[in-house]
Amino acid sequence: MTQPLLANWNGVEQPLDEVRVSVLDRGFLFGDGGYEVLRIYGGRLFLLDEHMQRLVRSLDKLRIAADVPRIERRLRETLAHSGVVEGMAYLQVTRGEAPRMHRFPPGNPHPNELIYIAPLAGDPYGDARETGAAVLTTPDVRWGRCDIKSINLLANCLAAQAAAEAGCQEALLVAEDGAIVEGSHTSVFGVKDGAIWTTPLGPHILPGITRGLVLRLAARAGISVVEKSLHTRELGEIDELFLTGTTSEVLPVTTVDGRPIGNGRPGPVTRRLAETYRQVVDEMLAGPAS
Ligand code: PLP
Repeated sequence: MTQPLLANWNGVEQPLDEVRVSVLDRGFLFGDGGYEVLRIYGGRLFLLDEHMQRLVRSLDKLRIAADVPRIERRLRETLAHSGVVEGMAYLQVTRGEAPRMHRFPPGNPHPNELIYIAPLAGDPYGDARETGAAVLTTPDVRWGRCDIKSINLLANCLAAQAAAEAGCQEALLVAEDGAIVEGSHTSVFGVKDGAIWTTPLGPHILPGITRGLVLRLAARAGISVVEKSLHTRELGEIDELFLTGTTSEVLPVTTVDGRPIGNGRPGPVTRRLAETYRQVVDEMLAGPAS
């Protein structure tokens, strides 16, 4: 029998499948909330400060008043009690429960806070990391504030489902002008003549925590960075393409819409960044517990 996942629901630890939430929760009714996903390596929360800062920012933009230092304390406690060594942590904060109305409810309900810890058996992208992932392109039909990590993910879910039905690992979201914005749950990078290209930060992309780390690693490795979106018409001219994300880490992409990128194999720049990513994880594991 598989072990039930451990959750912390508004400060109370309990099995995830026993958590109950009101149908009047505004996350349930409107998608009115923010979230984070963190990777756990060797029982430690990777890039914890960066994730907490982004949660603070998302909740601030959504005008949800939650005690994020308290959420961080509960996250650490729940992880310790879960015993999970390799896995992920999910955090979600909604505006709470109130009679249904679009405007914020008078008197501001208490936010509903969910944390749960899930083990990961092996690397979910292990095969694709070696052979390269296949992706498809699809129009980006999301709203204009994709920099906020909100739980409104319908367009992302539809895009990810289209990718899965086509036998692909991810969907690249494409703007009306043909610019590749980001993936349904990943950031996107191209490599041309040894330099990496990625969409600049702004309202149309999530400021990916892994994206930020990879840009720092590129600077450390002397790889030049061009913060400019790749265009679909440039896909035939680039040497490599890769995705980054909390669970996908640094993932090479070898075909887009069935057409090969570069020589159709994971390229050297992607491999180098994937290796340096691993080194950062190892450095964290060798360092003092935070
Ligand atoms: N872009 C989108 C739309 C995402 O949903 C995610 C992660 O879920 C990412 C990028 C990657 O972000 P991170 O590296 O913080 O996991």
